[in-house]
Amino acid sequence: MQTTKQQIKTVIATLRHETKQYPPPLIDIIIQEYGKMPFLILISCLLSLRAKDVVTIHVCRTLFKKAQTPQELLAIPRAKLEKIIFKSGFYKNKSKVLHEVSTTIHEKYGDTVPRSLDRLLKIRGVGRKTANLVLGLAYNIPAICVDTHVHRISNRLGLVATRTPEATERALEKILPKKHWIEWNTLLVIWGQNKCTPRAPKCAWCAVHRFCEYGRARQP
Ligand code: SF4
Repeated sequence: MQTTKQQIKTVIATLRHETKQYPPPLIDIIIQEYGKMPFLILISCLLSLRAKDVVTIHVCRTLFKKAQTPQELLAIPRAKLEKIIFKSGFYKNKSKVLHEVSTTIHEKYGDTVPRSLDRLLKIRGVGRKTANLVLGLAYNIPAICVDTHVHRISNRLGLVATRTPEATERALEKILPKKHWIEWNTLLVIWGQNKCTPRAPKCAWCAVHRFCEYGRARQP
């Protein structure tokens, strides 16, 4: 019987290897194409909410041709911004959030995305998931971004037994070594998009099946 520490170590090593065959998540593509630009990472996260990565990446590319700073984004009128980001869904609300976020970063933080959780969470429209992703991927500050994939798979693996993403974040902080906090999201997002899908997880073909409580219960 493996300890939690061993289980985490094995799952990470296995997923590092296995996830190489799949496309990287949205923010990794943004970083590959634009570098570690905190503002672009933040805007991409906001556009990706309730949207598929394959759609959001095109929307981001179109938007970033026109604007890569808070001031440039604010120079785009709301109606025009709505047209640019239309395909990412919830475009009216997202365009409002993009303008509000840009205004705050421009006026309060001198065009620099804050690098603390407290300050990020004070920006209207920025939630915990987005804030943690920005801290980790833009600034390399250890933070666990718990999105739907991280919440679901951490529970299925049996590492946590939680009902909400916030509870998952707190539980993971206790068992996951800090050096893996940022990577945990990347690995589980890829796994969640391709293998451990919400409705029909492919447990019989899953490389971490032996280390997964849910998988073992379904396919002993
Ligand atoms: S065994 Fe099934 S539930 Fe567990 S991680 Fe793999 S796909 Fe997900």
